[in-house]
Amino acid sequence: MKQYFHSVTLDKEKCKGCTNCIKRCPTEAIRVRDGKAKIIKERCIDCGECIRVCPYHAKKAITDSFDKIFEYKYKVALVAPSFYAQFKDKPDVNVILTAICKVGFDYVFEVASSAELVTEVTKNFIQKNNLPKPVISSACPAVVRLIQVRFPNLIANLVPLLAPIELGARLAKERAVSKTGLSPEEIGVFFITPCAAKATYIHEPLGIEKSLVDGCISIKDLYLRILPVMKQIKKPKMLATASTDGIFWAKSGGESFGLSNENNIAVDGIWNVIKVLEEVENQTVEDIDFLEAAACVGGCVGGPLTVTNCFVAKSRINHVLENTKLSPSLYTYSSDLDEAVRWEKTIDFEPIMKLDSDMAVAMQKLEQLEKINDNLPKLDCGSCGAPSCRALAEDIVRGFAKESDCIFRLREKVKKLSVEKGDAQ
Ligand code: SF4
Ligand code: SF4
Repeated sequence: MKQYFHSVTLDKEKCKGCTNCIKRCPTEAIRVRDGKAKIIKERCIDCGECIRVCPYHAKKAITDSFDKIFEYKYKVALVAPSFYAQFKDKPDVNVILTAICKVGFDYVFEVASSAELVTEVTKNFIQKNNLPKPVISSACPAVVRLIQVRFPNLIANLVPLLAPIELGARLAKERAVSKTGLSPEEIGVFFITPCAAKATYIHEPLGIEKSLVDGCISIKDLYLRILPVMKQIKKPKMLATASTDGIFWAKSGGESFGLSNENNIAVDGIWNVIKVLEEVENQTVEDIDFLEAAACVGGCVGGPLTVTNCFVAKSRINHVLENTKLSPSLYTYSSDLDEAVRWEKTIDFEPIMKLDSDMAVAMQKLEQLEKINDNLPKLDCGSCGAPSCRALAEDIVRGFAKESDCIFRLREKVKKLSVEKGDAQ
């Protein structure tokens, strides 16, 4: 099984073993053992749900330190549109972008601009290709990973196109090379990320071998750096070019808004996404053409690395451009993009729940699992550290747990022993 890089990690010192996170994980990737949470790496999709629910802030997303940008001669910030929604009083986007340059970047690329291009390519792709319906957006890496591990039958529904972050990195790097004469290795492209899934994507890109994004800085980190700088900017550089169509990608429904089909739906929040995908898999939703799905509530504005409440941010996105004077974009759609943006490799099913690679052994283990599960109390109380009785039964079969980890089974065992002892006396 391939070992993935994961942005989401546990701070063992902070974990109190409270088990709050185990039931919220959509892939049953967390166990609490010996008083501490443990993430089963193959199962984690970096959705960030456990970061949100941990009352002790013991789960965190690893991003790069800001100093990493100074390892490069020329530094590019790829700014996610959700970043604009972090500021109250609707600041001119040019002020935000100018402040980013003042804290160390040489150039800013608005990911909203590449999102506009991806929208055009997606429209053409859907028109020319006969994908199974509903066609599912591949923009949220956590959703793509979820499909890869839990809904293999829906892999064929995914739009096999690069996400705006990757197209943005390509365009920004090409421009920086031609402007500066530097080699691509001397140019550092950093994504300003709202979420852990995109931080993971940089190391584990989807549909391509290697991402051109060199690192990522969390929205929280950059927000705190530029806030005081923004106040001092009287004459901003005219850097903003992205229109509402691209900026709306920051919120749930924004991607489908640009596609302007009638039968699109947008679903947000990982548990809602799972519900809808189950319905798609069971063919109970047949009249949907396009499904936009985001792991975070509200869309990217709800990412765990943002600053502002997702509902406030979602409403702010509608007004981002109110005080902004836009300049003409350097990046316009051309038909060459239709091919350039295609995934270079397919996404494969990753059977994380498989009990054994040998089918006969897997069947035996499954039988064993069912027997153990039948003997467990079916309360799914979580006190054994597994999210459900069935998950504990699976752990026992895999050799990671024992039946006495269940407090009910342990109590029965103790009772039986004491009765036996009493009989013997
Ligand atoms: S929610 Fe999970 S990670 Fe946080 S303290 Fe409880 S067991 Fe540990
Ligand atoms: S990031 Fe999501 S999938 Fe990974 S352990 Fe946390 S809740 Fe589970």
